[in-house]
Amino acid sequence: MRIRRTVWNDRTRGGVPDPMNQTATVSTGRPTLVLNAASQPLGAIPLSRAVALTMTGRATPLAFDGVLRSPTTTIDAPTVIVRTEWADAPTGVLTRVTRSALFARDNWTCAWCGRHARPGGDLRQTSLTIDHLIPQARYRKPGERHKYVPASHRWDNVVCACRPCNGRRGSEDPDWASLRVVPRAPSRLVVMSRQLARVGRGAWDAYLPAAA
Ligand SMILES: [Zn+2]
Repeated sequence: MRIRRTVWNDRTRGGVPDPMNQTATVSTGRPTLVLNAASQPLGAIPLSRAVALTMTGRATPLAFDGVLRSPTTTIDAPTVIVRTEWADAPTGVLTRVTRSALFARDNWTCAWCGRHARPGGDLRQTSLTIDHLIPQARYRKPGERHKYVPASHRWDNVVCACRPCNGRRGSEDPDWASLRVVPRAPSRLVVMSRQLARVGRGAWDAYLPAAA
């Protein structure tokens, strides 16, 4: 059976594991990290589903944080589970460029000024943009009118940039020497690990491949 992956993002407030609060009652929607038997990440699912998987023997809890209470019972709430049946972790590199994968590839850091977007930080994630190294206009075919030019949207031509840095350059050639990242297609596993590390806000770092 496939694990239904749920996407959490920085706007998902509350419910993230708090290692200092072992007996707090937690929400059934809190994200739980799912690993395969080789300790590779498979994704994150709501706590309610993680509990269902462990109760039916399809997963084993690996770490707990807080408790789930019902009128009749209290159970420890898993924050990391391991699937009993083998499941492959993502392999290979990503082909399609998406905002979320690009920001994870570049670690939510502006490729030009090095500012890092983090929840609660001075640079917000919503201020990050996709910066096309060779401007989109130069990829545009004669007669192509749309602002968005799909041909320019390739891993070796995009970096994550803060709004001021992206706006400053306009359609000029990039200053290649000051580029802080190597623009290439990222591994699926690295992108997923970074996204999960961000969802877990530090609570899952010990269970994720070094993705920094
Ligand atoms: Zn910048």
